[in-house]
Amino acid sequence: MKIIDKINRATEENRPFWSFEYFPPKTQQGVLNLFSRFERMGLLNPEFIDVTWGAGGTTSDLTLEICTTAKASYGLETCMHLTCTNMPKKKVDDALKIAKENGIRNILALRGDPPVGQANWSKCDDGFTYAVDLVRYIRQEYGDFFCISVAGYPEGHLDSLNKEDDLGFLKEKIDAGADYIVTQLFYDVDMFISWTKKVREAGIQAPILTGIMPIQSYQGFKRMTTMCKTRVPNGIIEALDPIKDDDAAVKEYGIDLAVSMCRKLLENGVLGFHFYTLNLEKTTQAILEKLEFVNAKDLYRPLPWNTSAHKHRE
Ligand code: FAD
Repeated sequence: MKIIDKINRATEENRPFWSFEYFPPKTQQGVLNLFSRFERMGLLNPEFIDVTWGAGGTTSDLTLEICTTAKASYGLETCMHLTCTNMPKKKVDDALKIAKENGIRNILALRGDPPVGQANWSKCDDGFTYAVDLVRYIRQEYGDFFCISVAGYPEGHLDSLNKEDDLGFLKEKIDAGADYIVTQLFYDVDMFISWTKKVREAGIQAPILTGIMPIQSYQGFKRMTTMCKTRVPNGIIEALDPIKDDDAAVKEYGIDLAVSMCRKLLENGVLGFHFYTLNLEKTTQAILEKLEFVNAKDLYRPLPWNTSAHKHRE
C-alpha cells in the first residue's frame, strides 16, 4: 500500500500516527536482531517503517534485503530510502526494479550525504545532482507506482545559502511529484512550528511527518547535533549537563523531552511523528506509551499467531 494513502486516512480521521526509521546493521547478527525488533515493534502499530540507504550506496543490497523482509515476513508497510550518491541511472533503475518486484511501493528520494571520508557532495557520471532530479526520474519511469517522500529541513539544509531558497527547493520536489515530506531532526519546537507555517505560505500543501530523534545517549546526542548543526535550546543543555555521565538518567530525560515535544506539536495540530529509532526499541516504545498512543497491556498480550512475541523484549 502507498504510505500517502495511509497518511491521508489518518488525517481524515484526525488521529495521530507514527512511523519508525532504521538503518542497516553492520553485522549479520545485527540484521537478525533487527528482524526480531521488527516483530516486536510491529506491535506498536507504526503506519510504516523505513530503512536508510548507506552514504555512498554502501549498504544498498542490505537496504533492499531488509526492506523486502520487513514487508514480506513482518507485514510492515515499508519505505526504502534511495540516494543519488554514487548512483548512476543504471544502479537507480536496478534498485527501483528490485523494490517494485518485491512489492515495495514507497521511496524516500534523497540526494544523499557524501560517502564517509569525503567532505563535499559531488554528482557521479550519469547520475543525478539533486533529489528533485531523482523524484522526476522516478515519476517519469514508474508513473504513479511509487509513493515518493522527500526530506525537509526546518533549520535549513547545511549547504543551503538561505532558508527561502531551501523552501523553494522543497517546493520544487513536491511540484515534481513527491507526495509527502519527512523532516530532519530538531529540538526547538517553536522554530519547527514557525517553519511549518512558512512551508504552507510557500504554497506547499503536502503532509509533513515530524522527525523526532529521542536522546538515547549524551555522546550520541552531541555527535548528531554537531554534525547536523541542530539548534539546541538552552533548557535542554542545562538539563543534560548535570546528568551527562549517567546513561540511565540521560535516556529517561530523552523520553520525557520527546514526550513533551510531541505533546506541544499535537497541541499545534501535528499528527504525523517519524521516530529516528537508531535501531533501538525501548525508548520509542516508552514515548508512545507515555503519549498514550499505545497501551502497554495490549503489547504484552501474546499474539495468537506467535506467543513468543512478548518474550523477546529488549
Ligand atoms: P536536496 O533536496 O537535493 O538538497 C541538497 C542541497 O541542494 C540543499 O542545500 C538544497 O537547498 C540544494 N538544492 C536543492 N535543489 C536545488 C536546485 N534545484 N538548485 C540549487 N540547489 C538546490 N542520507 C543518506 O545518505 N541516506 C539516507 O538514507 C538518508 N536519509 C535521510 C532521511 C531524512 C528524513 C533526512 C532529513 C535526511 C536523510 N539523509 C540521508 C541525509 C540527506 O541525504 C542529506 O541531508 C543530503 O545532504 C541532502 O539530501 P536532500 O534529499 O535533502 O537533497
